[in-house]
Amino acid sequence: MSERRFFLEVLILKTYPVGETHRGLFVLSREKGTLSLIAFGAQSPRSRFRALLTPLRRVKVSVFHDPVKDSYKIEEAELLDSHEGLAHDPQRFFSAARWADLLRRVPSLETGSYDLLSESLRLACGVSQERLVRLEIQFLWRLAEESGLRPEFLNCDGCGATLFGSSVSFSTNPVAVFCPRCSSGHWTLSLKEVDYLTATAVLSLEDSLQAPTEGSSLEHLRSMAFDLWSQVLGQELPRYG
Ligand SMILES: [Zn+2]
Repeated sequence: MSERRFFLEVLILKTYPVGETHRGLFVLSREKGTLSLIAFGAQSPRSRFRALLTPLRRVKVSVFHDPVKDSYKIEEAELLDSHEGLAHDPQRFFSAARWADLLRRVPSLETGSYDLLSESLRLACGVSQERLVRLEIQFLWRLAEESGLRPEFLNCDGCGATLFGSSVSFSTNPVAVFCPRCSSGHWTLSLKEVDYLTATAVLSLEDSLQAPTEGSSLEHLRSMAFDLWSQVLGQELPRYG
């Protein structure tokens, strides 16, 4: 019966009150994907969990699974990363909150999502405004790749022509890419933008933030990624500030 108790490293995506004194946590883990946990008494001022178990933190928890109620109760918790730097800048905080919100609502998550969010939160703590936009582009496009939504920019989905060396017309619903002649998508990616996405896809997340690109392309690539995920979720991604 030892599997009823286990340790998990989790990222806290959301917390919510359960009754008057308990706290529910919606978390993302590498091993079990998203999961709802409950921290008994965590809303009480005297609880050690109260200040510890808050959104966007990475914690190691000891969990007891009650098979009758099919609930997961947190017995112990240890802080691994508070991501304190997010609190120092509203844009960082809003971006991180948006990523957590997105991961809560993506229909099915692949195992790489945990590492992607974990690394993105870590990097977001110390980045400039411009790097934050790059990080957000990478987060959204990499998550699209994880979820099988990212086009390969190889062949036109209309006529089959090779897309090498040309701008690309991009449709987010359904996800498809077209050559300039078919041009059936709502968005147009310049050759430089296609090259940027293709080149950065094989870099580490941290290295990808250094890749050369133009400022106007960054806003454009981010807007496209927002639109892609808004179409997938059937509602706008929150933009906050
Ligand atoms: Zn075509």
